[in-house]
Amino acid sequence: MYLCYIDESGTSSIPGNTSHFILAGLSVPIRNWKDCDQGIEVIKRKYGLEDTEIHVAWMLRPYFEQTQIANFDKSDYAQRKYQVESLRKAELLRLQRAGNSNRYRQVKKNYEKTKGYNHLSRDERQKVILEVATCVSQWGFARLFAECIDKVYFDPARSRPPQTIDEQAFEQLISRFARYLQYMAISDPNSSLGLLIHDNNPTVAKKHTEVMKQFYKNGTLWTSLQRIIETPLFVDSQLTSMVQIADVCAYALRRYLENGEEELFNLVFQRADRKDGKVVGVRHFSKAGCTCKICSAHKRATPLSAIPSALRPQKAQPSD
Ligand SMILES: [Zn+2]
Repeated sequence: MYLCYIDESGTSSIPGNTSHFILAGLSVPIRNWKDCDQGIEVIKRKYGLEDTEIHVAWMLRPYFEQTQIANFDKSDYAQRKYQVESLRKAELLRLQRAGNSNRYRQVKKNYEKTKGYNHLSRDERQKVILEVATCVSQWGFARLFAECIDKVYFDPARSRPPQTIDEQAFEQLISRFARYLQYMAISDPNSSLGLLIHDNNPTVAKKHTEVMKQFYKNGTLWTSLQRIIETPLFVDSQLTSMVQIADVCAYALRRYLENGEEELFNLVFQRADRKDGKVVGVRHFSKAGCTCKICSAHKRATPLSAIPSALRPQKAQPSD
């Protein structure tokens, strides 16, 4: 059986503040789940993040207060945290006195979202994400599925029936996961079933559950979902490291497509589902003739011999 952890990056609203919306799913066989979870826990412990959710967009922001603290890098984690929290308290008091309630709320939210990481320098926070992405790249049993929509080229009227960005992304993602399960079922017809596990966000939960019910009734555009069981399960991402890893994958895809950042992308893209050397699990919905690495790998089959042996897709093991 396969668990597929799903998360998104960017906003699906138009125009929103990102050009792309990414929905990514990372599939692992159940029997590898514990190893994955422990691998991530080891990285978290090393950086004092045992009880903290990895939320990459908040982690990689610049934290202004850290630049105000002399020798920040030389203090221990507890001292650093104390110093940052002191400066933040002072700043919130200042904003409160100044009577700027919008700014106060915005800054307070920013502090809350980043408080779990403020003992780490920016360099260390980048290292955490890089180590996580490296760990994922080495999971030969894992497969990455994603729909990456460039909202500039999205026209709801062109799809039949008309779909929102969320619906297209979700349908594409689960269709690819379902095809992968069908392929795996060739070698193991009785147990290649899949379960979708999603970060619990009440709006998304309701929407995806309804879309999923429709898919069960009608089959999706591309394939039927007979091997995906149940409606998606929604979990608290704070408690489920693997949903946080899907967040890292979605973020890496978006930053590559929007900013050309390759380091994280090159790691997680190694896990994109491939068939005969061609990437079939990740799609970039964009202009015709796009030459990005995703579109290039989607169109052209790379001869297996041209892929370094460590990166070649592994032959499936019988699943649990
Ligand atoms: Zn492209």
